[in-house]
Formats: sequence, structure tokens, C-alpha cells
Amino acid sequence: MAEEQWRIEVDRGACVGTGLCVGTAFRHMRLDGGRARPVDEIVRPDQAVTDVAESCPMEAITVRNAATGEVLAPEW
Ligand code: SF4
Repeated sequence: MAEEQWRIEVDRGACVGTGLCVGTAFRHMRLDGGRARPVDEIVRPDQAVTDVAESCPMEAITVRNAATGEVLAPEW
């Protein structure tokens, strides 16, 4: 079986550009035009990614299982 991969999605309409995610997960997030973007959309499982999805004040970051689409973070 292929190694699990995650997909990082940023709702650029919801993001208000606090930069919080970039500060805590600079390997995964960057700012572009005042809004966050993932450095790479598809990543290997890394708790730093789910942590930023949980800590974004706007809940603009969603982490999914890339194969199944299952939402891994944030938890509702
Ligand atoms: S923490 Fe959330 S609101 Fe702040 S820059 Fe990142 S995605 Fe945007």
C-alpha cells in the first residue's frame, strides 16, 4: 500500500492573513498576497500540519487524507 499522504487546503476567502500558521509551521505554510498558501499541497503526515489547522483562528486551513478526502483537521 502506498504511504499515506495529506492534502492541505486553505480557504483564501476565510484567511485574514494573520501569519500565525506561517510562524508555527514555516515548512508548510507561506504568505502570498497577504493570504496563506501551503508550500506544498500534498505532504507526508506531520503533526505540525494538523496543529496549524486546529490553531487557525478563522478555521481557514483544512487537512485531508489525500486519497480518501477524509477531513483530519480541524476537528469540529
Ligand atoms: S492562521 Fe489562518 S487566518 Fe492566519 S494566515 Fe494562517 S490560514 Fe490565514
